[in-house]
Amino acid sequence: ILIIEDEKQLCQSIAEGLRMDGYEADTCFDGDEGLELCLVENYDLILLDLNLPGVDGLEILRQFRESDTSTPVLILSARGQIQDKVEGLDLGANDYLTKPFSVEELLARLRVTQRRLLLLQASGDADSPVFQNGKLKIDYAAGCAYLNGEELHLTPIEYKLLCLLSHNVGKVLTHTY
Ligand code: CA
Repeated sequence: ILIIEDEKQLCQSIAEGLRMDGYEADTCFDGDEGLELCLVENYDLILLDLNLPGVDGLEILRQFRESDTSTPVLILSARGQIQDKVEGLDLGANDYLTKPFSVEELLARLRVTQRRLLLLQASGDADSPVFQNGKLKIDYAAGCAYLNGEELHLTPIEYKLLCLLSHNVGKVLTHTY
């Protein structure tokens, strides 16, 4: 995890909290270095302050998202920067935390972000004609489903139900769907 935050004490206490929870954390205190690090290194997640010396956080996010659309970015911002948060989310940030926040809250948000990513990976790209999750594969274009590579013989209703569930991995659907 890369933490780009110019309040050194805050940055270091976040890093400490992350390390205590088993994450590896790098710290960075200015925008120029932050931008370079996230473009050059391969982080699993980036915590990004908005007001930074050098390149500001939103500009870092803009440039980072031009080359990397999948690495999660969480914005750390001060109270009252609502417009910046909205802009950050529009630029592709995954979530934001309002300062001051506790390390426990940050860790909880990280877990939420990770769960969302896992669900996204399991459900695959929405435009993908093939769904794959474990032993199950659905070829939407061909209208076929496979388990362990063997075609499943499903009734039309069963097939429709399977497709519906595959598009809603991790969600509970009611019978009214
Ligand atoms: Ca700052």
